[in-house]
Amino acid sequence: MIKDKRQKRDLHALDENGMVLCNSRDKEAAHRAEAEGIATEDWAAVTCRKCLELIYKHNKALQERKDPS
Ligand SMILES: [Zn+2]
Repeated sequence: MIKDKRQKRDLHALDENGMVLCNSRDKEAAHRAEAEGIATEDWAAVTCRKCLELIYKHNKALQERKDPS
């Protein structure tokens, strides 16, 4: 049985600077991810757990800024 490797790949999130969220210091990783089509600016489509966690934190921080308790 041949497994399709593409289906196993996580889709990473790109931030406003075009960097991969879970690897934001690695420009090469961003280029690679973009070239291979495994990164997206559409955060709703992201499947990478690390990216999702960072998106969650990002959104939470935004919300707290908007609505201070
Ligand atoms: Zn990621």
